[in-house]
Amino acid sequence: MNISQWLHSAGKYMTERCPGAGRIDAEAIMGHVTGLDRVSLYRDGDCAITPGLEDTLRPLVERRAGGEPLAYITGKKEFMGLDFEVSPAVLIPRPETELLMEKALDILKAKMSSMDYEVGQGPVVADVGTGSGAIAVTLAVMLDRTRVYSIDASGAALEVARRNAAIHGVAGRVSFIEGNLLEPLNGMVLGGAGRLDLVAANLPYVPSPEIPLLMADVRLYEPVLALDGGLDGLDLYRRLIPQAWDLLSAGGYLLMEIGPGQAGIMQSILDGKWAVEVLQDLAGRERLVVAAKKH
Ligand code: GLN
Repeated sequence: MNISQWLHSAGKYMTERCPGAGRIDAEAIMGHVTGLDRVSLYRDGDCAITPGLEDTLRPLVERRAGGEPLAYITGKKEFMGLDFEVSPAVLIPRPETELLMEKALDILKAKMSSMDYEVGQGPVVADVGTGSGAIAVTLAVMLDRTRVYSIDASGAALEVARRNAAIHGVAGRVSFIEGNLLEPLNGMVLGGAGRLDLVAANLPYVPSPEIPLLMADVRLYEPVLALDGGLDGLDLYRRLIPQAWDLLSAGGYLLMEIGPGQAGIMQSILDGKWAVEVLQDLAGRERLVVAAKKH
């Protein structure tokens, strides 16, 4: 069998067993095992594959055919153009979270150009429920003066996040802390002005009654701890908001990713001392609450 035939038959096999899986997954699995990129897979399509390689590929194809997310099989996922290591201990970074990232980058760039940070200083950010560290690490990579506190209740998730910071060369500017929401930062001497300029939060926000209705790949494989947000999904945000108020500087921002139908309740939780804006994702769903701490 050659590469091209293998991709075709593995793609077909997975599509028949797992809706949504297919040729792209076959290419990713082959690429993961051989190190070949997609261009090479096409260019060298008529190269024969050895029985040994086929044996290595087969169990990975079976896992994907059985519904396991591709990212857990290859151990990585792209987010904002960067490759992140993932494991079943962390939620797989989602494309819709790029909305939070873009808004955070806009806000911090504006702060960096308008505020007089001391030489060598820059914005101070907290990423709450950091998971794989995708948000924290991307911020540190893209804004080279930013200092990030990356907090998660799961020690196993923090291990993954730590590795991602090291892979992307920002371990020196991202601190990883195990704990609940912003609690570990209480009483800590934060960099810069001693307060946070921005809090980014992609906390669990799926309402508990909706967990059984999630797609099988999410429900059966991703950590429920990273998804279940209580009865209406907003339990953790209710606790986070007052904590963020206490730690943010005046003019600081709290960014919270939400799910469909949650913007209204979020607006009622955030009282009049916050200036609130709700942004939609590319699919037109309300996805991000931007709350500014008024001066
Ligand atoms: N967007 C995720 C999902 O649809 C939920 C992520 C979260 O709860 N933070 O599965």
